[in-house]
Amino acid sequence: RICGTQSPTIFSKIIDRTIPADIIYEDEKCLAFWDVNPQAPLHFLVIPKTPIPRISYVTEDDTELLGHLLVTASQLAKKEGLDEGYRLVINDGKLGAQSVYHLHIHVIGGRQMNWPPG
Ligand code: 5GP
Repeated sequence: RICGTQSPTIFSKIIDRTIPADIIYEDEKCLAFWDVNPQAPLHFLVIPKTPIPRISYVTEDDTELLGHLLVTASQLAKKEGLDEGYRLVINDGKLGAQSVYHLHIHVIGGRQMNWPPG
């Protein structure tokens, strides 16, 4: 696999408990925790434990893992009561405004979203 320049990132430190986070969910493949700088009333991140730097770096081998991340995001959104809808976001690279190079799905909800995004 292609590795990013920032490895380990702050998210690897959250996975191994070197730095604290408000963790919502964990299993053998992924972790979910509240975003430290929320963009809506509810904003959490779902990340793989494997440090894939970017969505643009995934391969066919990651298909099952990516499915698991999406299903987990959906189930956690339901558990958090986001019945009226929410937004999933994956930022990729410089033009995608990615800041942490460990793949993550943003789950953002609790207010009206707008489209198109800025
Ligand atoms: P990106 O711009 O890479 O898609 O999003 C990174 C997200 O990670 C941002 O929403 C940012 O607030 C969040 N973040 C960065 N560092 C930390 C941290 O140490 N703890 C938590 N909980 N969130 C973080």
